[in-house]
Amino acid sequence: MRNLIAANWKMHKTRAEARDLARALADALAAAPASPSAEVVLFPPFTAFEAVREGLGEAKIDFGGQDVYPAESGAFTGEISPGMLLDAGCSWVLTGHSERRHILGESSVLVGEKTAFALKQGLCVILCVGESLAEREAGRLEDVLQAQLADGLANVPAEAVSRLAVAYEPVWAIGTGKVASAEDIAAAHAFVRSRLNALPGTEAGQSVRILYGGSVKPENAAGILALDNVDGLLVGGASLQAETFLRIIRAGQTA
Ligand code: PEP
Repeated sequence: MRNLIAANWKMHKTRAEARDLARALADALAAAPASPSAEVVLFPPFTAFEAVREGLGEAKIDFGGQDVYPAESGAFTGEISPGMLLDAGCSWVLTGHSERRHILGESSVLVGEKTAFALKQGLCVILCVGESLAEREAGRLEDVLQAQLADGLANVPAEAVSRLAVAYEPVWAIGTGKVASAEDIAAAHAFVRSRLNALPGTEAGQSVRILYGGSVKPENAAGILALDNVDGLLVGGASLQAETFLRIIRAGQTA
């Protein structure tokens, strides 16, 4: 299974900045090609898709949307459909990022609708799950993950499981500089794997990549990737500069 190293640019980068960053990544990977063991995906803001496409040129790097709405088209002001993402050159989408759950008030049920619809329309999806600090301290980690996965994976078609990945992102570790311990990551990923194995067809569950996200840096990336059931990384802050993100990509190749 190839490690999936994903960059969530969040609400950062003008078109010019996005083009420059994409080009810097493409040039560096052309000069020292990525090993086939690492697959790289960028999640720029919607306004920068075209610029990213230009910057990437022929590089084997995919990109995707940070969000999607579960309908083909219609009166959904401010939203974007899977078809629009595909039309803009995206092959991926993030669903259920904690900033959407906690800042925008997105429910797990809506996250599940987005996940299933985006998969049905042909996109690859990274479904994000994770507990808050209060939930962890109350001993509710597994309950929270179980509920988010049950809602998030409801109605995922069996034939689309190969295009699904799950990111475990403890909310208290995102953008805070606090990284979950190796034990915490391994335990949470083992739990996610057990839930994925309950999806129709155990083999399909085994093939779903589980990414860790939360203050990943070049210094900790290789150690996290070496843990059981860690099949990639979802990187926020450290993906905004080519140099740091490239070091994380390279960690993925050697782990
Ligand atoms: C994220 O945006 O999903 C994330 C994990 O951010 P950061 O790496 O900055 O913690």
